[in-house]
Amino acid sequence: MTEMTSGIGNSAASRDKAYYLHPYTNLKTHEDVGPLVIERGEGVHVFDDSGKAYIEGMAGLWCTSLGFGEERLVEAATRQLRKLPFYHAFTHKAHDPGIDLAEALIKIAPVPMSKVFFTNSGSEANDTVVKLVWYYNNALGRPHKKKIIARQKGYHGVTVASASLTGLPHLHRDFDLPIAGILHTDCPHFYRYGQEGETEEDFATRLADQLEQLILAEGPETIAAFIAEPVMGAGGVIVPPATYFDKIQPVLKRYDILFIADEVICGFGRTGSMFGTQTYNLQPDIITVAKALSSAYLPIAAVMISEPIYQAMVRQSEKIGTFGHGYTYSGHPVSAAVALETLKIYEERDIVSHVRTVAPHLQDGLRRFRNHPLVGEVRGIGLIAGVEIVADKATKAPFDPKVAIGAHVARFAQEHGLIVRAMGDTIGFSPPLIITSAELDELVAKFGKALDDTVSFVTDKGLA
Ligand code: PMP
Repeated sequence: MTEMTSGIGNSAASRDKAYYLHPYTNLKTHEDVGPLVIERGEGVHVFDDSGKAYIEGMAGLWCTSLGFGEERLVEAATRQLRKLPFYHAFTHKAHDPGIDLAEALIKIAPVPMSKVFFTNSGSEANDTVVKLVWYYNNALGRPHKKKIIARQKGYHGVTVASASLTGLPHLHRDFDLPIAGILHTDCPHFYRYGQEGETEEDFATRLADQLEQLILAEGPETIAAFIAEPVMGAGGVIVPPATYFDKIQPVLKRYDILFIADEVICGFGRTGSMFGTQTYNLQPDIITVAKALSSAYLPIAAVMISEPIYQAMVRQSEKIGTFGHGYTYSGHPVSAAVALETLKIYEERDIVSHVRTVAPHLQDGLRRFRNHPLVGEVRGIGLIAGVEIVADKATKAPFDPKVAIGAHVARFAQEHGLIVRAMGDTIGFSPPLIITSAELDELVAKFGKALDDTVSFVTDKGLA
């Protein structure tokens, strides 16, 4: 035992604090509160190391769509591990799970797509997209058409380029991001940014105008692409206002700007259609997917590109040689086998119909809290929802950020056996897609108790 490790207890919590640098965590707070150690899962529940059960109201990180005990995925992984645990796809190699999955994705793509490129995570998928957009425009002889427009509060990942696309200040600050050539346009959150007397439709018109002004100010010949999540997730579950995408898309077309749909959360049923692209009638040129692609049982993500983009890339590769991009684990056969089985299960169980059937228990259930004194807005569609907590309903004034009211609500929910995620003062819900109506009712009831606890907390602390 080194000096560094002496004095560290044997508990998982103390060893965690001693050795584990946690992703996306307040490091200082973690030293005080330590981890919640999750030991096992079953259906929509996870269990901590004391045996306490929680409804996983976020499907982990919006991802374990089939819940925590899908044996068929375990078997698919095991079969593939025995047969061919690894092979790659560089320099003309291939394997069946990779080929089958590429074919399956192109067949269910919501708009005609040509080819699939595999990555290990949503971040890598969006990072790949940035490179493809640059490569594509070089191929077309447009070396100046390179800028990409993302949105404030959009979330696209944490790698250097994808974090630059992400429109959240704490992903940029002190990381020296964003990189050059990434712009952010307005966040389409009507409740927060709609103006007095403006309808949702007026708001959407204004945002489309502002996007056009940005494009014109920068010079359309410099703007290559626009990226958007159909429903914004980690930025606080922001559902686009009526007519938003109908007005944004013609602006992009007018200036020959590619539209990238980040379906990392929305893909595979979350919004009540197979893709958010269908829910909002989008016409993307590029689509990224991850998370529910494999129900998160193994890491895998993908970028789908249209035929014109592929054709330009082929011509470029013919000119300059190898397409110099790829990961050791691009299309890992075990992950691909699990993803294929996941897609089969979605089809066999008609997951989209299931989501549509049970979704009202989440959406209407949460909307019953609209009159709650701490609830500013309830928003969502399908099995994704957000509840925004405010200090003053009439003025929409938030609590002092130092109070971190969202984190308190999430803590109270956890005490009642429900895991949700606080994104600032918005509480996010994104349960496994297999959740039943009864389980959703239970989830909503537990959240109600957490809201009541928060009222007592706010009163006791004299915060309202
Ligand atoms: N895009 C979206 C819309 C996401 O929600 C996420 C992850 N929350 C990512 C990209 C990044 O995915 P990953 O964490 O797998 O890198």
